[in-house]
Amino acid sequence: RRAELKRLAQQPSVTADGAHLELAANIGSIEDLTKVLENGADGVGLFRTEFLYMGRNSFPSEEEQHQTYKHVLEKLDGKRVVIRTLDIGGDKELPYLELPKESNPFLGLRALRLCLKREDLFRTQLRALLRASVHGRLNIMFPMIAVLSELREAKRVLEEEREKLEREGVPVSDSIEVGMMIEIPAAALGADHLAKEVDFFSIGTNDLIQYTMAADRMNESVAYLYQPYHPAILRLVDMVIKAANRAGIWTGMCGEMAGDPTAIPLLLGMGLNEFSMSAGSVLPARELVSRLSKTEWAALSEQALAMGTQEEVKQFVEQRSNL
Ligand code: PEP
Ligand code: MG
Repeated sequence: RRAELKRLAQQPSVTADGAHLELAANIGSIEDLTKVLENGADGVGLFRTEFLYMGRNSFPSEEEQHQTYKHVLEKLDGKRVVIRTLDIGGDKELPYLELPKESNPFLGLRALRLCLKREDLFRTQLRALLRASVHGRLNIMFPMIAVLSELREAKRVLEEEREKLEREGVPVSDSIEVGMMIEIPAAALGADHLAKEVDFFSIGTNDLIQYTMAADRMNESVAYLYQPYHPAILRLVDMVIKAANRAGIWTGMCGEMAGDPTAIPLLLGMGLNEFSMSAGSVLPARELVSRLSKTEWAALSEQALAMGTQEEVKQFVEQRSNL
């Protein structure tokens, strides 16, 4: 079975009925790239750049960041690389960034909210990204957007930095895709409006589940509420994919759910285009989708969406997909 999986590393990600998907990998550093390449991932669907900022005493410089982004883009050799702008706050702290204590950090000044407050940090990262864009296929992704004005503001800052670089004579790719994560229920519910102003969505189910169920993703006492297959979550995911389809943009998922064998058949049926997961999950996922029919799961996922509980959904999927 191991040898069979290994063979799949050179194969495209295709369903039994011929639908092509992207099965990408999540990374936190350049050390993770070896596994991404070994497992034949179709790209990087999430580079969590906050790890560049953690475990040190000061901010990484523009040049240091540029070198890292360039390295990742070159290694992926033309495959898609989705780099997420800084997602600090919540559970991830920086000792050298002095921020006021908050009583609910997960509901506080986190990720893009912080970047829009501390534009200096944001601009440095965006410049590093824009400069690296000529070395591969770069997609830039903004985390934790709740409302349209945040997206517009982030895009405005990005455009300003692009114009500055162009005036300085620094080459910048003109085919960068700009997207956003959907990890706040308000963004999922407002996806039809947001979709008109981005090139892609990537659904961050780790946070989307926590915010939809009002259950801290790290708190064992409420872990029973952390339900990826709850129809409430599935309906939000379905709504996001449909809104993206109507606007003609693609949808990915980079939360843990994207690599989960019980979730994959449903996500495939709903029409998810890209699944980004830990590198070790890519080949098992490729093997699984090769046995699934997208057409069949489009109908089955409709049935799952109408169910009342996570347990029913789970049982239904496991029976129908011979997991
Ligand atoms: C998510 O929220 O699903 C996600 C991918 O982001 P992170 O886990 O880094 O918060
Ligand atoms: Mg998140």
